[in-house]
Amino acid sequence: MSFNKNDEVCLTIENFGNEGEGIGRIDGYTLFVKGAVPGDKIKARILKANKNYGFAKIEELLEASPDRENPPCPVYDKCGGCSLMHVKYARELKYKEDKVRDCIERIGGFERGSFIFNQIVGMENASPSNRPLRYRNKAQFPVGLNNDGKIITGFYASRSHRITPITDCPIEASVTGDILRAVKKYMAENNILAYDEVNHKGLIRHIMTRLGFATGEVGICLVINGDKLPFADKLIPLLKEAVDGKYNLTSVCVNINKEKTNVIMGKKLSVIYGRSYITDKIGDIAFHISPMSFYQVNHTQTEKLYAKALEYAALTGNETVWDLYCGIGTISLFLAKKAAKVYGVEIVPEAIENAKENAKLNNIVNAEFTAGAAEAVAIHLPKPDVIVVDPPRKGCDGKLIETILKYKPNRLVYVSCDPATLARDLKLLAADGAYKLIEVTPVDQFSGSFHVETVCMMLR
Ligand code: SAH
Repeated sequence: MSFNKNDEVCLTIENFGNEGEGIGRIDGYTLFVKGAVPGDKIKARILKANKNYGFAKIEELLEASPDRENPPCPVYDKCGGCSLMHVKYARELKYKEDKVRDCIERIGGFERGSFIFNQIVGMENASPSNRPLRYRNKAQFPVGLNNDGKIITGFYASRSHRITPITDCPIEASVTGDILRAVKKYMAENNILAYDEVNHKGLIRHIMTRLGFATGEVGICLVINGDKLPFADKLIPLLKEAVDGKYNLTSVCVNINKEKTNVIMGKKLSVIYGRSYITDKIGDIAFHISPMSFYQVNHTQTEKLYAKALEYAALTGNETVWDLYCGIGTISLFLAKKAAKVYGVEIVPEAIENAKENAKLNNIVNAEFTAGAAEAVAIHLPKPDVIVVDPPRKGCDGKLIETILKYKPNRLVYVSCDPATLARDLKLLAADGAYKLIEVTPVDQFSGSFHVETVCMMLR
């Protein structure tokens, strides 16, 4: 049977889709319904109808799934940031766990039972619904104008560049809202214009904030379409007032981005207050983090993720280890404490600068860092006993997989933020029996969103 746009149908939601949407079937026709939960009985209106599947929205919730709950966010329906806040946290965790297992079995081609699959490591939280909130240490808000010409900050609505105004996002550290209000006040009082991406005019494009959960240090970076921030001396006291008392304002930077682009950060950074970085600690290791550098957003879960990665590396003290896609050297330095030598490789030069400082800061002398693409640099490094990779969502470059298969160390640890590309890469590594997948552990780093982190171990 096939359907047309605007048809109304009644159906029961059976599964979650890739991005947390509900999936139901009616006479063999598959419908993807945003905001629907397995167990819901709904009346839906079809928004787009293809031959065998379509997209629909909830017209009426006839019977609510027992896994539903009220999202603890006033703009949840409009904002494109989270997609599972209307689902009980335990069900969210199960969805993420199933998604990782499904990718590994279906895309990776690994048979169930042929590897150890651990339960997802969730967040422990004291909130009444058990949903973790205020866990993020980093936020990036676009700045713009509303229809009345008032300055707004917020997040982009799903699949768009319309800003949904938000000053207090419930997954962000609460100081973030105070900082946004301070920047808006500074802009209004000094006639500083918000950037308008349609005609490429105006100054302030984005506000980036970062809080060291372990140290209380706060870093703020304004991304501007210009060379200089006017009246910067007026901004600092407002920011200090917003931050100090609770935390320490440690770094205020300006990043210059004059390009017509969706990329948030430009290449040039200048410090307008304090230092160019904040310091945070994970376990007993301290890290300098520049605004240009990647740093895991969920401090509590990162400790668990790294502990698992370290366990999988099973170091005895004699090994040469590669840590590829190493960022500011976080995993590298934990590895270095238990290995003979660690080589870290990362493409962002500022992050490598941080990594080198971080080795010194912690008196670690057996870690060496190189700025460059992992796929270009790794081939020239001394032969490893263990390789750790932690690539961005697109996974490892094909050339890097070839290099790993050429050196074939005994042990691989793969940390991933996208289970589909993870499964693709694990399949390549397992081809012709080169490696065997031993163990997989999903970790919830991004509660409320459909994203999930995974750490895996393979042996030769
Ligand atoms: N392991 C680090 C960083 C992981 S995020 C941590 O846990 O903090 C992935 C990192 O890969 C980012 O820092 C990104 O800048 C870097 N990256 C992206 N493409 C790369 C490439 N081709 N080669 C090396 N690093 C790359």
